[in-house]
Amino acid sequence: MNSPTTIYLDHAATTPLRREALDAMLPYLTEYYGNASCTYGLGQVSKEGIDAARKQVAQVLGCKAKQVLFTSGGTEADNLAILGVARGLADRGRHLITSAIEHHAVLHTCEALAKDGWDITVLPVDASGQIDPQTVADAIRDDTVLVSIMHGNNEVGTVQPLAEIGAITRASGVLLHTDAVQTFAHIPTDVETMQVDLLSLSGHKFHGPKGVGALYVKKGVHLRAIQYGGKQERGLRPSTENVAGIVGLGAAAALAADEMESEIARLTALRDQLIAALTALPDTRLNGHASDRLPNNVNVSAAGVEGEALNLRMGMHGIGSSTGSACTTGSPAPSHVLTAMGIDEPWLSGNLRLSLGRDTTTEQIEACVGHYTDIVKELRVSSPNYVPGAI
Ligand SMILES: *Cc1c(COP(=O)(O)O)cnc(C)c1O
Repeated sequence: MNSPTTIYLDHAATTPLRREALDAMLPYLTEYYGNASCTYGLGQVSKEGIDAARKQVAQVLGCKAKQVLFTSGGTEADNLAILGVARGLADRGRHLITSAIEHHAVLHTCEALAKDGWDITVLPVDASGQIDPQTVADAIRDDTVLVSIMHGNNEVGTVQPLAEIGAITRASGVLLHTDAVQTFAHIPTDVETMQVDLLSLSGHKFHGPKGVGALYVKKGVHLRAIQYGGKQERGLRPSTENVAGIVGLGAAAALAADEMESEIARLTALRDQLIAALTALPDTRLNGHASDRLPNNVNVSAAGVEGEALNLRMGMHGIGSSTGSACTTGSPAPSHVLTAMGIDEPWLSGNLRLSLGRDTTTEQIEACVGHYTDIVKELRVSSPNYVPGAI
């Protein structure tokens, strides 16, 4: 039996559903059960719920409602963007550009295309996890059809200079997709400012429900379906809509947008308090960009410590934290993100991610610092390779 998690600091993995979103969803799980494709009253109630949510998401993105397609999550949105463009534009060329620090929903999709004969350029990042926009410009060829660069990194929190990259892709006539799962409803994600053509988001990363996401598709972008069936979502995401999930996502997005400014300020202060306390300990350091960083992300390495052991002990003290990304937890391979940043031992394995959310308090941060300090000390005593001050 696992001990209860009393301090949840893993919001990059998922967030609790907020009460208001649940309340908005409940009627669609009970009395409003109609299929949105049906023309009678009940069907239309569902359709109106979906339409309202589409407007709420569009409002946050600064786009038109009809440019938002609902999907089953961030992963499906990434797959639809990349495979949909690849299939739609294969006649124009078969070259794609992405980066080494993408989520596996993007990286593995690109790898699947590579097996089908596509040429994939994987751009490097600097030590802070940032992509130099010039490398995007240099990588674009006559046969390039898509650039896919994430907005905010889920492991180290680094935010990419997307507007600069967007200016380059637009000038070259190449489409730009961004995985904005960690940034949508957290920091501004205006699609015009960033000049992106496709953008993925996911409900459960901003206190909405799991199993629902969306893809923004700019007008004129030709996507070919990757699944076949009914006409839902312009035929690009066939299947009876997850009405309650979509309504919950819309509600959570609208609420987060209203609170965004104050939440950015509050979380940034908590984040910096946590970073300052952890990096004040001997032989520890921050991973990721110091300022171009998600307001809720802390990623710190401690020399002489195994991240997995540290993470397990944090869990035993009731703290929910993560090593690398949730998807790779349990696998012994080092994080592909930290590796791409050129991070080496002793920093590579001793890494811990703490990600904050709207329920995180100063008291929780203080308690977390206390436990982290004790656990690192304890683990270092039994670490044969650790010599204090030798780094
Ligand atoms: C969580 C996450 C995803 C996957 O979203 P799901 O809705 O869980 O499929 C994709 N990209 C990033 C950056 C994420 O953090």
